[in-house]
Amino acid sequence: MEELNAIVQQVVQVSPIMKVFRVAPIGWELPDFKPGQFVGIGLPPTNAKCPEATEEVVQPSPDKLIKRAYSIASSNISKDFVEFYITLVHSGALTPRLFNLQIGDKIFLGTKFVGMFTLDEVAEDQNIVLIATGTGVAPYMSMLRSDALKRKGNILVIHGAANSWDLGYSSELNLLQNIAPHFEYIPTITMSEKEHSKWNGKTQFIQEIWEEGAVEKLWGFKPTAENTHIFLCGNPNMVNGMIECLEKDGFVEHSRKQAGQIHVERF
Ligand SMILES: Cc1cc2nc3c(=O)[nH]c(=O)nc-3n(C[C@H](O)[C@H](O)[C@H](O)COP(=O)(O)OP(=O)(O)OC[C@H]3O[C@@H](n4cnc5c(N)ncnc54)[C@H](O)[C@@H]3O)c2cc1C
Repeated sequence: MEELNAIVQQVVQVSPIMKVFRVAPIGWELPDFKPGQFVGIGLPPTNAKCPEATEEVVQPSPDKLIKRAYSIASSNISKDFVEFYITLVHSGALTPRLFNLQIGDKIFLGTKFVGMFTLDEVAEDQNIVLIATGTGVAPYMSMLRSDALKRKGNILVIHGAANSWDLGYSSELNLLQNIAPHFEYIPTITMSEKEHSKWNGKTQFIQEIWEEGAVEKLWGFKPTAENTHIFLCGNPNMVNGMIECLEKDGFVEHSRKQAGQIHVERF
């Protein structure tokens, strides 16, 4: 079995089923990476699971680390740690073990940071809409914490979650909105009836926010395939629904074979 080559430096509980983990390498240097990329993390199957865990859907192999991919949420400027924003899947193999980790515990961190979900191929003056549900906001935090805010075009984050307490990084995104010119943040929740206090923000699905022209109202001009790139990350229903909306408006999905304005990461 591979060596556990990293250490849990910090754990922050965001909501009952979401945590932010900071992981630091032990005696090796983090490689260079592009904001938006992901890396594998892993734990041995012998690690205990958190009390909230239910029976596993897939039985892990006893002699192999359980590894999964996670988007990096931290800046690529700091090489001291990498940060992840992770949802507990109660019947999952890895996340119930991750949610049982304490500060100082060991973990496996992959040494290859990969992925095409980056701002690399988007021209400086293009506008960018970064759309996420749940922990799908992680790669955008890496972009914003690295150098995305130095770009010339507008940047908008639309973040959807069930409830306000699931909107991780909302304090940081609200702060950025207050201090960074050209940056805006639209949080939306879909289960407002469960809120314990008044929610004054949006309560629509992200597709509805797009279709009602919220971005045009905010920017004062219509986002089109000529002036805007759209990034989609998180829940497959949101991702597929948004691709449908965007294709009606003339946007094309970006791939290795075809340059387009819709960039997708499916969790
Ligand atoms: C490129 C990439 C980046 C990713 N980045 C992140 C990230 O930043 N944060 C994050 O939380 N996850 C992320 N994921 C998902 C992650 O890799 C795992 O799939 C997830 O954490 C579940 O792992 P598990 O071992 O606990 O569950 P598994 O044992 O793999 O799955 C158990 C069961 O739960 C289902 N399932 C899997 N994920 C979910 C879910 N989110 N909600 C409900 N059911 C689910 C599976 O279909 C399966 O039936 C990413 C995935 C990819 C491919």
